[in-house]
Amino acid sequence: MAKIGINIATGSLQQNEMIVGIDLGTTNSLVAIIHPDTRQPVVLKEHDGVSLVPSIVHFGGQGQVTVGDEAKKFLVTEPQHTIFSVKRLMGKSYADIREHSGYFSYKVIDDNTESLVKIQVGEVFYSPVELSSLILKELKTRAEHILKTPVTKAVITVPAYFNDAQRQATRDAGKLAGLDVLRIVNEPTAASLAYGLGLSREEVKTIAVYDLGGGTFDISVLRISGGIFEVLSTNGDTYLGGDDIDRTIVQHWAAEAGITEDELRVHKNLSQELRLLAEAAKIALSSSESYSGVVAEQAFSLTRQQLEHLIKPLVDRTITCCINALKDAGLDTRDIDEVVMVGGSTRVPMVKNSVSTFFGKKVHDTLNPDEVVALGAAVQADVLAGNNKDLLLLDITPLSLGIETMGGLMDVLIPRNSKIPSKAGRQYTTQKDGQGSMRISVFQGERDLVKDNRKLAEFNLTGIPGMPAGLPKVEVSFLVNADGILTVKAKELRSGVEQYIEVKPQYGLTDAEVEKMLMESITHAREDIQTRALVEAQTEALQIIDTTRQFIQRNTGFLTATELADTLHAIDELTRLREQGTKDEIQAGVE
Ligand code: ADP
Ligand code: MG
Repeated sequence: MAKIGINIATGSLQQNEMIVGIDLGTTNSLVAIIHPDTRQPVVLKEHDGVSLVPSIVHFGGQGQVTVGDEAKKFLVTEPQHTIFSVKRLMGKSYADIREHSGYFSYKVIDDNTESLVKIQVGEVFYSPVELSSLILKELKTRAEHILKTPVTKAVITVPAYFNDAQRQATRDAGKLAGLDVLRIVNEPTAASLAYGLGLSREEVKTIAVYDLGGGTFDISVLRISGGIFEVLSTNGDTYLGGDDIDRTIVQHWAAEAGITEDELRVHKNLSQELRLLAEAAKIALSSSESYSGVVAEQAFSLTRQQLEHLIKPLVDRTITCCINALKDAGLDTRDIDEVVMVGGSTRVPMVKNSVSTFFGKKVHDTLNPDEVVALGAAVQADVLAGNNKDLLLLDITPLSLGIETMGGLMDVLIPRNSKIPSKAGRQYTTQKDGQGSMRISVFQGERDLVKDNRKLAEFNLTGIPGMPAGLPKVEVSFLVNADGILTVKAKELRSGVEQYIEVKPQYGLTDAEVEKMLMESITHAREDIQTRALVEAQTEALQIIDTTRQFIQRNTGFLTATELADTLHAIDELTRLREQGTKDEIQAGVE
């Protein structure tokens, strides 16, 4: 039942506050809601019918900030003051994006490669979170203008491969824009929801979501069962999209007209006009057979057939990614029940046909491909508003999460590919008598030694009351919430002392890094098992040595001189073995 409130001061009815769905895209961003009357998702549009807001921020000389189409006009004339594709920088360090630094025409700071990137505009430094928040603030303002009501709650979408740091950064950007971000949702999940896939409990389906946007390509394989979404695999190319189609057309025209690459580089206005004409041609050719236009008093034309010939290599690359995604999910094209088309570039008929041919079935393309993600976010927002209780959304963790234990070993609490939300706990104890604090170091990765994994966070549980070693019971629990954000809690059960930390990693892992970490864990598996056995033997030896020393100290009087000498000798011997011996030698020493 819906609740209605009455504002006593004004006597007006207070409606349930609207939760909006936001697609914060690399190229375009937009907002959608569930229409209160029709109960259908709709995209919010200005009077002129425009729904897409280019994800571009321009800083003017007097500090004025513009976002969207207005900002886009400055891309060529003021490249240093016009920020595009900020989504690519979310949760990243300079080291993460170094190989693509040529892509950004504004100033990305690289003085400290380990920390998060900053963008310099004039004398001011901005973080990607701040820049994204400017886009979100603009979306919020426009939505409030259209809906004529305050908008403070939102669901924001992110690519399925976004890691903790990138999700957290997106959430922070929302907070900074004055939005309470109720949920971060995967873009492919949202797109499926927009088509009503997975809305009923009985449904069990495997879905491929093909998303070709302005600058990125993502393919995701999802499984829905019992109202739960699971990401089986993701693949793609973070530098492949509609922009590359435009560039290919410009190159083709330039070659035809005898314009050299150098000339294009020098004549920025000419190259910008050609690029705009190329995009116009591409868009026109999605519905007609030929196009012609004029730039600098010269005519340029293109047919659909020519375009298809030009972009064949790009389309083939996306199909290769699809093959890889299926392989990772352990599936065949026949296992895919539904194919969902997302992203403005899937409007190109050849793209649609190639995907349909590859999967051997009709694709879902009845909704606007550049709107489906926002529409699905609105569906999810509606679920969170309590209007559709059947639905639950689930993702998986890309890498194992655990803590460091004795000898630098990784103790995994939540294994890789666990469904989230996910919870796990384990009990630990102290190593020394009277130990008052315990260090909890949280790591992510697949290797047996924490030094080979990635440290996410560290904190001290202090105030453990004085007890003999082994007596305190410290329960460490991990909670990965539905957004994929990890909270670690440590509690000493006898005294009730507790401490917790929300894990906000320093910077994000690239897909390549995740892959590399997984590969290394496989290549080093044998070595890791040996190291683990050795470290365990060393730890056991150390414990025996400590306990025996304490025993001798307390009970010297009960021991004969030979017993004492023998024991001390055994301790020395084991100490030496612990440092230099093999696993077997140490174990023999312990015996
Ligand atoms: P993103 O997800 O990267 O924010 P979108 O999904 O909004 O981006 O896709 C933007 C891209 O779609 C641009 O490259 C744009 O030129 C392209 N696009 C939009 N409409 C069409 C069309 N009718 N035909 C071909 N490409 C199109
Ligand atoms: Mg998109």
